Amino acid sequence: MGSGRMPLTGYRVAVIGAGVGGLAATYMLARSGAEVAVFERDPSPPDDVEAAFATWKRPGASQIRHSHVFLGRLRVLLRDHYPELLEALLLAGMKEIRPLDHPPPALRGRLKPEPGDEDLIALAGRRVTFECVLRRLVERHPRVQMYSPAAVTGLLASPTRPPQVSGVWVERERGGKEAFRCHFVVDASGRHSVVTRWLSSIGCAAVSESRESSGILYFTRFYRQLPNRPAPEPGHDPWVGDWDWIKFAVFPAEDGVFSLTFAVPASKTELKSLARGMIFDRMARAIPGLRDWADAKVSEPLKSAPRPVEAMGGLVNRRRSFVVDKEPVVLRLFAIGDAAYCTNPLYGRGCSQAFLHAHELTQALVEANGDFRLAAVLLDDVARRNIEPFYRASVLADRDAIRRAAGQKATALSDRMLEIFFRNGVAIAMRTDPVVYRAFLRMINMFETPEEAFLQPEVIARTLWVMGQGEGFRRQHGWAPPPKAELYLAQLRAAGRNAQPVVH
Ligand SMILES: Cc1cc2nc3c(=O)[nH]c(=O)nc-3n(C[C@H](O)[C@H](O)[C@H](O)COP(=O)(O)OP(=O)(O)OC[C@H]3O[C@@H](n4cnc5c(N)ncnc54)[C@H](O)[C@@H]3O)c2cc1C
Repeated sequence: MGSGRMPLTGYRVAVIGAGVGGLAATYMLARSGAEVAVFERDPSPPDDVEAAFATWKRPGASQIRHSHVFLGRLRVLLRDHYPELLEALLLAGMKEIRPLDHPPPALRGRLKPEPGDEDLIALAGRRVTFECVLRRLVERHPRVQMYSPAAVTGLLASPTRPPQVSGVWVERERGGKEAFRCHFVVDASGRHSVVTRWLSSIGCAAVSESRESSGILYFTRFYRQLPNRPAPEPGHDPWVGDWDWIKFAVFPAEDGVFSLTFAVPASKTELKSLARGMIFDRMARAIPGLRDWADAKVSEPLKSAPRPVEAMGGLVNRRRSFVVDKEPVVLRLFAIGDAAYCTNPLYGRGCSQAFLHAHELTQALVEANGDFRLAAVLLDDVARRNIEPFYRASVLADRDAIRRAAGQKATALSDRMLEIFFRNGVAIAMRTDPVVYRAFLRMINMFETPEEAFLQPEVIARTLWVMGQGEGFRRQHGWAPPPKAELYLAQLRAAGRNAQPVVH
């Protein structure tokens, strides 16, 4: 920012929630000149990141001890606009994941540098580390006031049509309710946001909202590589896979730490036993791509993890907008992050979406220059263009996954062809063809939706070529027919019967 008056100077703001989106918005608004009070219901973290991982009580964002990856889209935003945060994250041990330097075996030596490669780098590290580093940076800002623990319990608003929000009701640990008055409020209270309830109590018209279950249960276990054991290199068997009844992935983190995650259909209740450490390990060692990671000679479960396995259900895709038929139903209230667009964690996009949304909010407010109706419309418009396509992609992929998990075939011919194209084509071509591999990296890093990345003519042509090579070629490059769940479940049942009490 130059030495002149900053564009949001003179504004007093309340941010609800100090998760990733709330912290991002607080930082960006404060850097633009606003005085920002952020209210967080959970207590503050201990100063030390390791202590935070082990002990920080975080019921408001219980995903913090699940695997997180921070996509290229987010890293580019930090690199271009908030380099001090990127630097602080790297200093705290987070790593840049450069898949172009470690491609699948068939692509080694075949990837010539191309413009745009510098963007295809994700950040790896624990979510607790990311959040603590971000929080420290935010708390140091002179225009930020952090209240934690402090719960927002409602909105202050004028009884106009539409209502104009003028502050929040806050409950601190000791003492009753206080009113905090401000020029505008940012709802960054995450996927459990109850802002629609508060809005109806101030007489607001219905907001636009859609919601669909992601249909999955999520299990994460953290490990640490044993001393002098380097991390496995990408090999024949993929580290990320989808067998319909189970999806799995490896998430490298800081300093020899990594986590493994399974996502299973909520309908497969027997797989809930993955919440037990030894069953989780057993499953990890039975999956070819995870075996090298979970091998007891290579790694051990991370001792500081408060629970052997973190489990989570009730995960939804939910989209919420305060602009209905191009008109805001409420003024001076903005929702960002999961409070506005919550997507299945499997795709790892939530933090990137939240950051992008906070950045877009700040830009909309600057551009609207005090016109809050215009700011709402601008933000809604840009989010529909930049974030909503990923929300839709998430919903479509989840509907498909739920259908497959139930053993049902796609009814429309076009859907069936698309499924074969992705399963027998893209899934292999991204391990054997440089153009499809880059398309995959652009998609996975949130620069393009799956449709944008894989339905380009050159990508289609190359994928069809791979499909034409037949099953022998597919098997040679890491494909195998997804094993039946029953085989694995029988093993887990036997393991469960012999299980010792869970220790890590
Ligand atoms: C299992 C799982 C795995 C995930 N993996 C990834 C991943 O790999 N990569 C990725 O980018 N994203 C991932 N996500 C998504 C990511 O965690 C969220 O998208 C991200 O945290 C959204 O940020 P947020 O600020 O909107 O919400 P949150 O980070 O959830 O923060 C909301 C905050 O609001 C506070 N709050 C709520 N109500 C109130 C109130 N009334 N008053 C005061 N404070 C309040 C909460 O305590 C919380 O701190 C995952 C999510 C889950 C569930």
